[in-house]
Amino acid sequence: MRLLIYIIGSGIAGLSAAIALKRAGYGVTVITKELRGGSSYVSKGGIAAATAIDDSPQMHAEDTLRVGDELCDVEAVRYFTSEAPVIIEELIKMGFEFDNDLRLEGGHSRRRIHHKTDETGRVLTEFLLKEAIKLGVNIVEDELVTLQVRDGVIKGFVTRERGGLISNVDYLVLAMGGYAYLWQYTSNPSTNTGDGGVAIALRAGGAVASDMEFVQFHPTITTLGDETMLLTETLRGGEGARIVNEFGERFAFNYHERGELAPRDVLSRAIYMELMNGHRVYMDLSGIEDFEGKFPSVSNFLRRHGLSNKDRVPIYPGAHFTIGGLRVNVRGETNIKAFTPLVR
Ligand SMILES: Cc1cc2nc3c(=O)[nH]c(=O)nc-3n(C[C@H](O)[C@H](O)[C@H](O)COP(=O)(O)OP(=O)(O)OC[C@H]3O[C@@H](n4cnc5c(N)ncnc54)[C@H](O)[C@@H]3O)c2cc1C
Repeated sequence: MRLLIYIIGSGIAGLSAAIALKRAGYGVTVITKELRGGSSYVSKGGIAAATAIDDSPQMHAEDTLRVGDELCDVEAVRYFTSEAPVIIEELIKMGFEFDNDLRLEGGHSRRRIHHKTDETGRVLTEFLLKEAIKLGVNIVEDELVTLQVRDGVIKGFVTRERGGLISNVDYLVLAMGGYAYLWQYTSNPSTNTGDGGVAIALRAGGAVASDMEFVQFHPTITTLGDETMLLTETLRGGEGARIVNEFGERFAFNYHERGELAPRDVLSRAIYMELMNGHRVYMDLSGIEDFEGKFPSVSNFLRRHGLSNKDRVPIYPGAHFTIGGLRVNVRGETNIKAFTPLVR
């Protein structure tokens, strides 16, 4: 009998799982709040993978462990840094075209950011969506899913519009992203409220949620008018964007020897301290060559608000990446008892 798999969430995680599982012959349905919602669609800079001749997964792992302040799960770091080049190769084989140059980001000792201009997430999500539809993945959009948990066991899920418990499921993939939209200052879209993944962890009880205290704050978010945008880290990495206060001082060097290329948590704290001390903080983009060609979405954003890269852009840190959540192993498996009574 063909197994039925439901995937909740249509970001890069959900769509990648859908494609892999459909190719493996399963019946796959993706259910999502917003087909083009979530972090994936607005993510900018690109994907880190050690593919350059002067780089290796081991070096990538060492950089990650260093900036992780010895708090990382070493097995997970080694697994993901060694898988990253494999995934990049797979995407290229599928026909995804990255730009030719690799970009640099904070904390990395090598150029290893694979990107598509400054809209990598949007372009990659559209690419994966097209592939999933081509393969015949069933997609249900504009549906908020809530899992039904009783006595620590998932009994099924309900969707807001259709209602009714759906329990004829063999496997459920939770790809509902993070919850950083809960913060007042955030880079995240409004879909990221944790109502799916983290909420069931709380309701299921036990040790299913972990590391919830680890929320990464991105240092360079801006709000112009009522539009908020993350100024991608690749602007600083080798492209020459500077972080300055109202006197033009590059104060980040007072906090870390790598200045603007310090790890995100260090730079976020530096900017926060500067703001708390009554200063104003800006990103100065004037030194970037071919700004419009390299960063079209930032350039269009500035233009919409009557600015260009010759103007200083006010910035602040905000909640960005939720590192904690459902406890899983490197294969993404939770310890929640699920569907045992439901598997046919
Ligand atoms: C502004 C920004 C820039 C970023 N830039 C980068 C970058 O350059 N490089 C990088 O590696 N990472 C970046 N990130 C992080 C990266 O985007 C995320 O780690 C990644 O996209 C997460 O993918 P995902 O599929 O797990 O989740 P998401 O893309 O967030 O998708 C979650 C999905 O779940 C759906 N959903 C949520 N709750 C429910 C529910 N209850 N019912 C139904 N559906 C639900 C949503 O609609 C959405 O489709 C960035 C993040 C942001 C916000």
